[in-house]
Amino acid sequence: MTLLRGATLVEFDPPSVEKADIRIVGDSIAERGKGLQPAPEETVVDLDGHLILPGLVCSHTHLYSALARGMPGPSQAPKNFHEILQRIWWVLDRALDPGSIAASGRVGALAAAASGTTMLVDHHASPESIPGSLELLREGLTEIGIRGVLCYEITDRGGPEQRDLGLAENIRFIESTRSDSRFRGLMGAHASFTLGDESLQQLVQAARSLRTPIHIHVAEDPCDFPRGGGDGELIGRLADAGVLDAGGGALLGHGTHLGPDALSRVRDSGCWLIHNARSNMNNHVGYAPVEIFPEIRCGLGTDGIDGDVFAEAQTAFFKNQDAGGALLAEGILRMIAGGHRLAQHLFERPYGTLRPDAPADLAVLDYPSPTPLTSENLAWHLIFGMSASDCVATYVAGRLIYDRGHFPLADREAIHRTAHDEAARLWKRMQELS
Ligand SMILES: [Zn+2]
Repeated sequence: MTLLRGATLVEFDPPSVEKADIRIVGDSIAERGKGLQPAPEETVVDLDGHLILPGLVCSHTHLYSALARGMPGPSQAPKNFHEILQRIWWVLDRALDPGSIAASGRVGALAAAASGTTMLVDHHASPESIPGSLELLREGLTEIGIRGVLCYEITDRGGPEQRDLGLAENIRFIESTRSDSRFRGLMGAHASFTLGDESLQQLVQAARSLRTPIHIHVAEDPCDFPRGGGDGELIGRLADAGVLDAGGGALLGHGTHLGPDALSRVRDSGCWLIHNARSNMNNHVGYAPVEIFPEIRCGLGTDGIDGDVFAEAQTAFFKNQDAGGALLAEGILRMIAGGHRLAQHLFERPYGTLRPDAPADLAVLDYPSPTPLTSENLAWHLIFGMSASDCVATYVAGRLIYDRGHFPLADREAIHRTAHDEAARLWKRMQELS
């Protein structure tokens, strides 16, 4: 049992700010109220001047890129998004082996935990090392203590044998997480433009029989459009194949180039749209129609840049302002809350709340605000005040997994030492492949 005393509790949906204590018992919040008295032998943490937020959900990321930080660039600079994939990411993912996958998962999970992120929705690819790859990620996330929603991205890029291995990896992982309180599997798929009709059919069939949604990139760049078509043809193809609603509403990464009609179909199919502002800017793929996102099931993702949802939220806001948009901070707040709704949907537990029975997944921020913080202005504090660097503690399922620069469950120095070696080997293999 742990009593967190004296903090200001912050919830996003609906926005709420209230000073109260929280008692954690097991993996859940057991009690909430003012002036809770410590029970015998209970751990008491004094958090006066701190905020407690529901742990953040990063709704689309790629842990496999965690060792890309500082790597040499391609010999020829990519001129468009397709070339970015061909010359960077499709070289990196082919160079991954079990050692580098394991290191990537751990490095990515450490960074997320230190940012107050308690759940990562990951989209994995390692074409030369597919079987067991999701298990390696699960082991890494478990070592740090973070939750994960994992999948392997099926594609026809490497031929039918690799596609079938990817399908089998998803099926095996989904089945293995049925009674796992910390992990879920999704049916992963790369994108329409690297999937033939037969592969789409297999994907949909598996998703339906496992009653598990598909997680796929959609309209990130116009190269995803079917030949001679646009967003309507793309969504039409996915809808006709059953991708949008097989096993439940699909998770669609980006949606950058979807127009109003396509977005209506996405909404009507119960899909989730995940906005990744920094990635879209970095890849110069265009700007997603984000004003409509909060009317649809939506979330924020980092697309492999890191696990920092605060930074993603702030960039999403500034990008929208720069584009003359009308989203405002409240719209961004709804996207963050969308990640919690996605977690609720996948795990059938009340993520995103700080009420009794909610999972005790918490981010503790040292946030001595110089101005009033209220339910009404919370969204603006989130954009102009709070940041991952304010995060001093992170709890997942009632366990402290990050504590002022330390990771109680994991040895960061040892993980980083291994990651240095793995990164050097990975970059060397990439140079050999390119
Ligand atoms: Zn992605």
